[in-house]
Order: sequence, then structure tokens, then C-alpha cells
Amino acid sequence: MSEPGVRNKAGLRLGGLDQRLRGLARGIADFCLPPICIFCRTSTDHHGVLCAACWRQIDFIAPPLCDRLGIPLPYDSGGITVSAAALANPPAYDRARAVARYDGLVRDLIHRLKYGDRQEGIAMFGRWLAQAGFELISYAVFFFHKTLYRWRLWTRRFNQSAILAEAMSRVCRVEADAFVLRRARPTRSQIGLTIEQRKRNVAGAFQVSKRAKLKITDRKIILVDDVITTGATVEACARTLTRAGAARVDVVVLARVTDTMTIAP
Ligand SMILES: [Zn+2]
Repeated sequence: MSEPGVRNKAGLRLGGLDQRLRGLARGIADFCLPPICIFCRTSTDHHGVLCAACWRQIDFIAPPLCDRLGIPLPYDSGGITVSAAALANPPAYDRARAVARYDGLVRDLIHRLKYGDRQEGIAMFGRWLAQAGFELISYAVFFFHKTLYRWRLWTRRFNQSAILAEAMSRVCRVEADAFVLRRARPTRSQIGLTIEQRKRNVAGAFQVSKRAKLKITDRKIILVDDVITTGATVEACARTLTRAGAARVDVVVLARVTDTMTIAP
């Protein structure tokens, strides 16, 4: 794994040429296909972004946050704060951070990505994830999780967790590894299940291969995913990784349900 920003002279020259070529390609693309909002399709300044009106509809999660769950707190206590929810039920992962509340336009964007194969916003999502998880990215290796069981991968064609991890990885220049966590068995969709049913559904559903165990032992890991609703899936993944030897497991997602009383489908 190369250090971020470390390149030799040839690399810098090639990087400069690469940037100029990309700029030229972007100019041609803009001329042929003017940039539009990835959601409402009104014109924008750049490709792969939201227009100002759509942007304003996103409920970005901002500090003060619960240090463990990453949910917003009503006031800033001036130091590291852990919410009552995290104290009552400490999560299996160390810290989680989310870009936005899982609601409205963000929910629609995730649904389009997941079920509609709409990947035009993926670079923007990568930047959002990197920003939301900036305090966790002082190390490490990203791994995406929720490896889909074969039949579901076939019906959905791609794994949204993987492409989000790769998009974040490109921004942070940290490795993303797609082959650490795998499904030990198929699970039913979590949609429509209660919190307890969700926990049972994913308990023991993941495993780490012998090769991957060597790779993660004593490493700090960030799980990347699209959404946390109850947290049952990421907690099952975090437990599996910790048992397999990971030193620490953090989670970064595009969106999370911040009110656990309303579990959005
Ligand atoms: Zn728009």
C-alpha cells in the first residue's frame, strides 16, 4: 500500500498528463452532455452532483455527535460525549459516522443506487463518506461488508457496499478490500423485520477467511455501507471481524436512522 501523496517524478509527470487528459475529456463531455443534477436533472455546474435545491433537502448530520453511534446530540457538552442510547446498548463496533439522516431525498438516492443501478452520484458519495469519516481515517484498511449471497448479487447485479467503499477509498487513498467478510449463509432481507428479528437474521451470517484473518489481525478497520437502520447488520459484521483479530472496527455509512423508534424500510 503506497503512502498517500508519495509519488516519484515520473509519477508526477504522468499524474499531470493524466489530469490534463481528464480535464480535456471533461470539457468534451460537458459540451456533448451538459451536466445535470443526478436527482432532478436540472442543469448544474458539474457532472455527478446535486443542484442547490436538492442539496438543501438533505439532512446532513453535523456535530455535536455521540462519539460511539455518531447520532446528533441536542447540545455540545464541550468534550467527547456518549449518548444515553450508546451507554444503554453499547454497539459492537467502536465508532460510527453517517453522512445524513436516512430520510427524504437521501433515501431516494440510496434506493436508486441499490435497486436502480444508478451510479452517477458515486464519486460525490465517496467525497461525502470521506468527509463524514475524516476523524476515523488516520489509519488503515477499508473493508466493505454485506457481501451479497450469490443469488442476490445476481438479481441486483452489483454490491452497493463495495462501490461505496471503493469510492471512499479513491478519495482517501486507502486500500479497499472486497474479500475479507463473506456470507456464511444466505439471509432474508431485513426489510419489515423487528429489531430482534433483524439480530437473529444476521447472527453468525458472516465469516472471515483464513487468508483474510492474517490481513486484519491487529488492524483498524472501517466498514463502509449504504445505511444503518437498527445497526444489527454492521454489529454482526463488527463482531465477526473483532473475533477474527481486528484491533478496532469503525463504521462509515451514507445514512442512518437517527430515531430508532422509526425504522425506515
Ligand atoms: Zn436537483
